[in-house]
Amino acid sequence: MTKTCDFAVIGAGVFGAWTAHCLRQSGASVVLLDAYSPANSRASSAGETRVIRMGYGPDELYMRWSMRSLRLWRSFFTKTGEDLFHPTGVLWISNDDDLYTRQMFDLVSKAGISCEAFSAEDLRRRWPQLVFEDAMWGVLEKESGVLMARRSVQALVKETVNNGTDLLTGAAVPPRDGRKLSEVRTTAGDAISADTFIFACGPWLPKLFPELLADRIFPTRQEVFFLGVPAGNNDFRAAKMPVWLHHMHPDRPYALPDIEGRGFKIAFDRHGPEFDPDNGSRVIGQASIDHLRSYLKQHIPVLQDAPIVETRVCQYENTWDGDFLIDRHPELENVWMVGGGSGHGFKHGPAVGEYVTARVMRNEAAEPRFSLASKQATRNRVIY
Ligand SMILES: Cc1cc2nc3c(=O)[nH]c(=O)nc-3n(C[C@H](O)[C@H](O)[C@H](O)COP(=O)(O)OP(=O)(O)OC[C@H]3O[C@@H](n4cnc5c(N)ncnc54)[C@H](O)[C@@H]3O)c2cc1C
Repeated sequence: MTKTCDFAVIGAGVFGAWTAHCLRQSGASVVLLDAYSPANSRASSAGETRVIRMGYGPDELYMRWSMRSLRLWRSFFTKTGEDLFHPTGVLWISNDDDLYTRQMFDLVSKAGISCEAFSAEDLRRRWPQLVFEDAMWGVLEKESGVLMARRSVQALVKETVNNGTDLLTGAAVPPRDGRKLSEVRTTAGDAISADTFIFACGPWLPKLFPELLADRIFPTRQEVFFLGVPAGNNDFRAAKMPVWLHHMHPDRPYALPDIEGRGFKIAFDRHGPEFDPDNGSRVIGQASIDHLRSYLKQHIPVLQDAPIVETRVCQYENTWDGDFLIDRHPELENVWMVGGGSGHGFKHGPAVGEYVTARVMRNEAAEPRFSLASKQATRNRVIY
């Protein structure tokens, strides 16, 4: 079967889904293709939950994008009647040496984001279930929270399909050399003919464009744990616990309250080893469990022996510093690459969709930080 459209969006993770949605809303004809299915278990967008917070240290661009995205997520949920955002608040736990959080507090305060600073004593009093001996102060973003990730992407794809986007399943065969791409063939035997092709393939981008991206996007293995909270203990539910980021700890732990009875979610944000999104093993080993237990013993003693009720292995698709990649292919003039979410991209799906639509439909100004030219092969993560 051959489909013809204005825009072919390849990859139905959060970036591709929002891009397809925004393009379709702008009146274009769109085909959305995914190798497996929207927010499938291998995709970076597939987790149960993702944090949406406004603070980005001194980085105003991503703060503004988070603000914009939260508005768009919320209005999408209101329109569709889905309840997929939990305004739990997001707490940054900090110490005196932590310039990042101090700069962030200044910036979010100036931007009118509702937040509150806590002294070390306040933190201990308000959240006695947490033990942070290294914490000197904290900042609570009051209106930030948690997006139900997989379900949000699937709801968005459903919405855009209802609005006329064509959804196909099958892997796009990587484009060959040339000046212009006329069609993409899929492993399911279909062909998509489009004016413009947008590859929003997350951690798969280096497989599709190895000559450009093999050393510019590096997927890493990231492990997530859900802990069973003791029956009757409400201290780890959203009413009593925000999302929190133990920001100055070298492993960068973060945790989400027990939402929808799934368990208390905890993970380490430091980059894991390299990972293959198609075939990498998603089973967690004993060393990781031991590492988690030792963290719990020190910082959340009530849960140090809590049962692990679920684990997930996902992958970050990192650029060298954490900035996104949104740019035209340097040779194929009608091909765009959208990705490099780098462990913080989910929340920004709506802003990415708007930005890509403005670039490809109206040729609006490009943000230099997203360019291919700005992507280096070294690793120096500065954006969290
Ligand atoms: C453990 C973990 C925790 C995270 N926490 C947060 C958080 O709290 N907040 C936050 O904002 N971000 C977070 N992130 C980051 C965020 O989830 C990602 O940046 C974001 O989901 C990336 O989305 P994407 O659409 O670029 O990629 P993906 O979701 O991976 O989507 C890519 C899609 O492309 C498809 N595809 C690949 N190759 C092909 C092909 N050849 N043909 C057709 N389709 C193809 C895949 O099947 C897939 O569905 C986290 C990530 C992980 C792994």
